[in-house]
Amino acid sequence: MKILSVVITAMAFILSACQPHVKIDQGISIPDIRVLIEVCDELDSIEFKGTYTLRSEEANYEFGGNNRNIYIKPLEKGFTIFNRNRIFKFTNNDQISFIPSEVTASFKLGRNAYPGELQISKNKDGFLNIVNKSNIETYLRGVVPAEIPTYKTEYLEAIKSQAICARTYALKKMEKKKDIFDVYGDVNDQVYSGLSGQNNLANHAIDGTRGSVLMYNNELAEIYYHSTCGGLLEASENVWPDAKLPYMNVRQDALGDRFACQGSPVFRWKESFSMDELDSLFKVNYNYSLLNAEIKDTTYIDLKINSISRTPGGRVQSLKLVYGDREFFLEGMQIRKFFSKNSRNLKSTLFTLKVQNDTLLVFEGGGFGHGAGMCQWGALYMAEQGFKYYDILVNKYFRGTYLKKVY
Ligand SMILES: [Zn+2]
Repeated sequence: MKILSVVITAMAFILSACQPHVKIDQGISIPDIRVLIEVCDELDSIEFKGTYTLRSEEANYEFGGNNRNIYIKPLEKGFTIFNRNRIFKFTNNDQISFIPSEVTASFKLGRNAYPGELQISKNKDGFLNIVNKSNIETYLRGVVPAEIPTYKTEYLEAIKSQAICARTYALKKMEKKKDIFDVYGDVNDQVYSGLSGQNNLANHAIDGTRGSVLMYNNELAEIYYHSTCGGLLEASENVWPDAKLPYMNVRQDALGDRFACQGSPVFRWKESFSMDELDSLFKVNYNYSLLNAEIKDTTYIDLKINSISRTPGGRVQSLKLVYGDREFFLEGMQIRKFFSKNSRNLKSTLFTLKVQNDTLLVFEGGGFGHGAGMCQWGALYMAEQGFKYYDILVNKYFRGTYLKKVY
């Protein structure tokens, strides 16, 4: 059994070389954003800190003090909210809100606490949507520390850049009106941990850039960011074919004679797969395995990886796997998903492949994430070097955009 051949095509790769609908106008108040923080079957407990009022068509009821926990369960028709004192029943179409009486009030769900309003509804699949509504500046306090390192004061200007990216991203999402929520509270949009994890440096960066967003042609810019580009920034259309953005091009993420993100722990990485591991990947992804108990002699089982195409930025765009009598074509994110290990996707598609001892497939790669937009580790280094947030954003990562204060 062996990995027969890995055909590596022309390499451009230079690893070693180198309210709900928001109208943006001056002077508007800070918009509210609705974040989907959980979709669940039932909820053991939500605990209110401070006073909250349940408002629905049928009820107005106060929670807090000794009456601070509620439990929620879906019913065959509708759902119920109850505690020791009361039981409330709602229909499938009800969308109920718990409104805080004071700004310091919050509610705890699992390990995290959240500021602002709690909204609950039932979705078409019978699950409960748990939504947190707060103003977008408060929301950012729960996003920024979850998205970028905030443990060094030297990182302040990069953290400000992150705050502006996250604000622009969220407002852009809110332009597309959705019924129940505006953004997911996880990697589907931006990771949001509510009040948990907030810190002074991130709060300072958010307050210091209050209302600032990136604009292009009088519209909010479309913003993407990632952990580490590996030295090569990618064009947006090479990651998302429909997103051709003139301010996200292929180029080196360099500062002087070094790569800006060189200090990232994943600037360079290695990952390897044995034949057994590769066979399990085929099993998991395609329910196709050649290493079963009936085959004792696996000498003639070969894997070929060929037709590798790359983006102009050097990232692997597509490849073909030939295994046994079947062929599998992978492209874009599918590549990272297929070659995952311990439930984690391959870090990036910026890699070369080689076969070691006929049986081990070795990836040598750079960076973590899609590579388009702001490289967070690059921004952290620039901040340490004295760059300001507008240099990092407008002059480095989103050339052609401009900053605007929208409230
Ligand atoms: Zn970078």
